[in-house]
Amino acid sequence: MGVIVQKFGGTSVGSVERILNVANLVIEEKEQGNDVVVVVSAMGKTTDSLVKLANDITSRPSKREMDMLLTTGEQVTISLLTMALQEKGYDAISLTGWQLGIETEPVHSNARITNIDPSRIQGELKKGRIIVAAGFQGWTKEHEITTLGRGGSDTTAVALAVALQAERCDIYTDVDGVYTTDPRYISSARKLSSISYDEMLELANLGAGVLHPRAVEFAKNYSIPLVVRSSMERIDGTMIEEEASMEQSLVVRGIAFEDNITRVTVFGLKNALTGLSAIFSTLAKNQINVDIIIQSQTDENCTNLSFSIKHNDLEETTRVLETYKDDLNFTHIEQESNLAKVSIVGSGMISNPGVAAEMFQVLADNDIVVKMVSTSEIKVSTVVDRENMVKAAEVLHTAFHLDQNEVKESLV
Ligand code: ADP
Ligand code: ASP
Ligand code: MG
Repeated sequence: MGVIVQKFGGTSVGSVERILNVANLVIEEKEQGNDVVVVVSAMGKTTDSLVKLANDITSRPSKREMDMLLTTGEQVTISLLTMALQEKGYDAISLTGWQLGIETEPVHSNARITNIDPSRIQGELKKGRIIVAAGFQGWTKEHEITTLGRGGSDTTAVALAVALQAERCDIYTDVDGVYTTDPRYISSARKLSSISYDEMLELANLGAGVLHPRAVEFAKNYSIPLVVRSSMERIDGTMIEEEASMEQSLVVRGIAFEDNITRVTVFGLKNALTGLSAIFSTLAKNQINVDIIIQSQTDENCTNLSFSIKHNDLEETTRVLETYKDDLNFTHIEQESNLAKVSIVGSGMISNPGVAAEMFQVLADNDIVVKMVSTSEIKVSTVVDRENMVKAAEVLHTAFHLDQNEVKESLV
């Protein structure tokens, strides 16, 4: 008898009927003789509604109070699901972040888990209880409530799976697996039977919202078998594992995209030698995440620099740069919003030069201007106008045969 961690996202627990459906899936797992820990998100769009409530009061809510507010969403779901399980005759108990022993760093809104003390959970499991755990939340040594970032319930689930040495972590959601790209936008997207941790991590980091990146990171580091599957339909999902050998032949395995990208350009940066580190350490100290960076050397002592950020960080970025303008020693900044990032991902790229060239050619053939580029061994990312995002993903999906690679697989 092993521990199984199940996780159900917002849509899957979005109504009383759906919570009852989840209760049945939990009971099925329990009836197999397993210890079950079930992690849930806030119901439906609750978290978005709470964010909106805060924004109706202030455009700059304190991060601490946001965490206090947002963690209430999950607390509603855990109690309701526990009641549903009890009503069906099962012994269950709901636990919030601190009761679960989930300790995080002392950062609000996007905290990393630093430690899990599973003793309370283990004690409850020993009593034969089903644990219903609040996703997305933790607490600090100073007893502050924190959250793990939007979509963070996936990470709660995998982290608990690690702490409890679970046999498996099943992520139940509103799609029936990981697709070659977001099936809600691109109808020819195809479900993958398996995908490697590394590819999934890139896709998640590049905007494929189906899994929280840190959940994949944990699963990879601790070799936790992770399955993404439907909470509505009883069909096989996608296995995320070390090597996804079946589809080894594919150069590109998936396409991810995200909008709300802004490009900031810093003009006339003096001290080319030290200016770069000064700019980025100043931004980092102010918790601003910079993604793609392009530097163009204008002459020995003066350079222009472009970098991309999430649009939400624009106000803070300009504030920080303007505050330290004299120290940083640049002439002026410009910004361009309404951009999006479209990326191709696949471990086959390592041994296939020319993939980036092919990507740029396909985009050019479709009159899509590429504004920034970044590459790694297994991905190429491009920044394009927001209005071209879905079209870019669509043409690349077709160009790299992602809509028909079942055929390729059978040829291997
Ligand atoms: P949950 O609330 O269950 O955590 P999410 O909305 O966070 O669900 O994640 C599921 C969504 O992820 C899907 O509805 C889909 O639109 C999106 N998605 C993005 N990229 C992919 C992909 N490659 N495969 C499957 N779903 C994807
Ligand atoms: N409820 C949180 C969110 O909507 C966490 C999660 O669903 O994973 O982001
Ligand atoms: Mg999610």
